[in-house]
Amino acid sequence: AHYLRRIETLDDALNAYVTVTGEQAMEAARAADEARAQGHAGPLTGVPIAHKDIFCTEGTRTSCGSKMLDNFIAPYDATVVARFKAAGCPILGKTNMDEFAMGSSNETSYYGPVKNPWDTERVPGGSSGGSAAVVAGRLAPGATGTDTGGSIRQPAALNGVTGIKPTYGRVSRWGMIAFASSLDQGGPMARTAEDCALMLNVMAGFDHRDSTSIQRPDEDFTRHMNTPVKGLRIGLPKQFFGEGMDAGVARVVDEAIAHYKGLGAEFVEVDLPHSDLSVAAYYVVAPAECSSNLARFDGVRYGYRCEDPKDLLDLYMRSRGEGFGPEVKRRIMVGTYALSAGYFDAYYLKAQKIRRLIAEDFASAFKEVDVILGPTAPSTAFRLGEKTNDPVTMYLSDIYTIAVNLAGLPALSLPAGFSDGLPVGLQLIGNYFDEARLLGVAHQYQ
Ligand code: GLN
Repeated sequence: AHYLRRIETLDDALNAYVTVTGEQAMEAARAADEARAQGHAGPLTGVPIAHKDIFCTEGTRTSCGSKMLDNFIAPYDATVVARFKAAGCPILGKTNMDEFAMGSSNETSYYGPVKNPWDTERVPGGSSGGSAAVVAGRLAPGATGTDTGGSIRQPAALNGVTGIKPTYGRVSRWGMIAFASSLDQGGPMARTAEDCALMLNVMAGFDHRDSTSIQRPDEDFTRHMNTPVKGLRIGLPKQFFGEGMDAGVARVVDEAIAHYKGLGAEFVEVDLPHSDLSVAAYYVVAPAECSSNLARFDGVRYGYRCEDPKDLLDLYMRSRGEGFGPEVKRRIMVGTYALSAGYFDAYYLKAQKIRRLIAEDFASAFKEVDVILGPTAPSTAFRLGEKTNDPVTMYLSDIYTIAVNLAGLPALSLPAGFSDGLPVGLQLIGNYFDEARLLGVAHQYQ
C-alpha cells in the first residue's frame, strides 16, 4: 500500500510505470501475509517488485515499450516472473523502457521518456530506465531489468542505484522478449548490492525452456557480503581511463580506488587492447540479431495490425511501418544490411571475430586480477533531447558497458558518489560465474 501510494502521487512526474497492477499486488500481499502467518515465508515473501515491460506477464499487457505490442497480453509468465511469484513477491506493475530495449536514454519508448528522479529534465538512461527510476524514486524496492549492451548498468549508474548483469546463461530468457539473443541477459536492480543478491537468488537457475541456460548447482549470492577485500587484485583497464570520461566521473572513480586501497585491495593496470572496437562490433551484432528476432512481428500472429490491408504484402509493410518506431527501424535496416549476401563477411563475420578477441582480452586480464574496476558511463545523466538527433553520440554512452556483453561476463554498477548533484556509477566486472564476489566487493563500498 505504501508503494502504491507513492506511485499514485509521484509517477505522473516520472512516467516510470507503463502499467500499475495495484489490485493484484494487494491480493498477493495478503497471500504473503497468510504464508508468513503459517510459517512459510522465504526471505522475499511480501516484498513487492516491478518488472521491466519486456518480461511476459500472464493476463497483464507486455508492451516492450512499443506500439507494436501495445495490445499484447501474454498467455504465460516469463520464467523470471514465475520465479518471483513463487517467492511471494507481489508485482506493483510493469516499467517503461526504450522500445524493444533499443536505446540508452529511454527516449525511444512509445509511451514517452521516463524522467530521472534526481532531475526531471534529465534522462534516466536506458533501456531499463523505468526500472532504475522506480527504485531511485522509491516507487518499488526492487525491479527487474535486462542488459544487452549496458541496459541494467547504465541506468543504474544514472539513477544512483545498484544493478547487476549476470553471466550470460545464468538467468532464463524464456518469456523475455528477444532483442539480441546472444547478448540479452536479465538481472536485478535495487538500492544495494545485498538487495540485488537476494533478488538474484530468486532469478538465477537452470531452465530447460531456454537453450542457452546454464546448468550449475544453486548458490547463495549473498555469501560474500562480508568477505574482506584485503589482498583482492583489482584491475584497472588502461583503455577505460583515457579520454572521454567526464572530470566529475573520474574524480568519483578515483575516490573509489582510494577506498578499496584503504581496505587492502591491490591495484594492477590491465590491458584490453580491443576494447576500442567494442561499440562498432556491438552495433553490427546486435542489429543483425534484432533484425532476425523482430521478423516475427508481422501483423499476423500478435501485436499491431494495420487497418484494411490490400493484400498480404501491404499487411506486412504497413503493420511494421506503423508499429515500429524510428530507432527500431534503423536497427532492422542496419542488421538486414549487415547480414545480406555480399556484406556478411565484411560486417557480421568481422564483428564476430572482434567479439572473440574481446573475450580473449578479458580472459588474459583475469589471469592477473580477480575483478576489473572502472566507470559505468562516461557522464552523469544528460538532458532530455540532448542526444536524440545523433545516434552515434548516443551509442557512445555504452562505451564502458558493451564489451562485457560481447564476452558474456558478469558486471555490476553501484552508486559511488555524486558529480554536480547527480549520481555517478562505478562498474565492477568479474570472471564468469563470479557474481557473488562482485556483489560482496560492491557491498564493501556501501
Ligand atoms: N544502449 C544499447 C542499445 O541501444 C544497449 C541496450 C540494451 O542493453 N538493451 O543497444
